[in-house]
Amino acid sequence: MNGKFNGFGGQYVPEKLMNALIELEKEFYKASKDEVFMEEYRYYLKDYVGRPTSLYYADNMSKTLGGAKIYLKREDLNHTGAHKINNALGQVLLAKRMGKKKIIAETGAGQHGVATATVAAKFNMQCEVFMGEEDMHRQSLNVKKMEMLGAKVTAVTSGSKTLSNAVDEAISSWVANVEDAFYIIGSVVGPHPYPTMVRDFQRVIGDEARKQVLDREGRLPDYILAPVGGGSNSMGIFYPFIEDKNVKLIGVEAGGLGVETAYNAATMEKGRKGIIHGMMTYVLRDEAGDVLPVYSISAGLDYPGVGPEHAYLRDVSRTSYVSITDKEAIEGFHFITKEEGIIPALESAHAIAYAMKLAPILDKDKIIIVNLSGRGDKDMDTIIEFDKLSSNND
Ligand SMILES: *Cc1c(COP(=O)(O)O)cnc(C)c1O
Repeated sequence: MNGKFNGFGGQYVPEKLMNALIELEKEFYKASKDEVFMEEYRYYLKDYVGRPTSLYYADNMSKTLGGAKIYLKREDLNHTGAHKINNALGQVLLAKRMGKKKIIAETGAGQHGVATATVAAKFNMQCEVFMGEEDMHRQSLNVKKMEMLGAKVTAVTSGSKTLSNAVDEAISSWVANVEDAFYIIGSVVGPHPYPTMVRDFQRVIGDEARKQVLDREGRLPDYILAPVGGGSNSMGIFYPFIEDKNVKLIGVEAGGLGVETAYNAATMEKGRKGIIHGMMTYVLRDEAGDVLPVYSISAGLDYPGVGPEHAYLRDVSRTSYVSITDKEAIEGFHFITKEEGIIPALESAHAIAYAMKLAPILDKDKIIIVNLSGRGDKDMDTIIEFDKLSSNND
């Protein structure tokens, strides 16, 4: 399909980036067919990241909800605490192969920034991370981690001073340093070949899950649920199941204060077709084309676009999307924490909250896999604050 997912995707970038994208595409396809490169990638996934992550049968949750069996794909157990490092690792190895010395990245909550600063430290690369000033205040611990890892964190002060602006700044910086720098994007977004490349570096989640569920249950699952920000952990777990038409693939977006309000990040539900960050996809924008401010309690989900392959898969009815509000996500967070002794990232808690609605209405012989995209340490302050506010309101 060459980066055009049936009209979604493409390369809507300044002329100056076109050659860099063409070169990147060429190198990426060469590398993915190069056994030496892939062997190195798999080696670090195993010994450095800690893969394979387990597919864990959440027996307490399943029993309490009284319906389908729930399995958790434990991406929270990866080094740096989320799925992001699968992709950051793949791209830094590609940068090394291309002889680049400098890494550029954007970050929202700081998870992708920390994963990128980590692999940049490991592979001895210079690293600059663009981060909205607002996000730097909200996620100061991640800023400290990136700096400790040797990265330079550059504050972005344009627009709402959040993720979307950070992507714009990172792309501009890449345009200015295109000869020396490699841009490591954090999700299945941006101009071709990024959505395809990031998907291929994240598909290890789905490849493992497919084998693990077959070993354990002797059959494929009925449902796979995953949270959707830009769409990388979901694309990673969905992709190896695309041809298995009986496996329902459901992405869970951030409903924020409700999809009927202006405070959400439900791009699939409320977005219109448009161009953002170099790609054609669904975007939360107004009639004039201006990107709307997005909101979610979960900083990793408040992105106003979505990966173009998701847009394509939804249009051909292969995947579907639901939304979960802040309040429901917090309930999901406490539920899995108490039932299973697993403190999830707030992003992942959105998928858990949807499993809480879905499992009870399914028969006991049905199987759901939830992608537990990350761990919750980074969200403790947010949860404490939310719980304090809601107990004051009682
Ligand atoms: C960044 C992040 C997400 C959302 O990003 P995707 O690209 O949609 O996967 C989800 N969960 C966690 C833990 C994250 O850090």
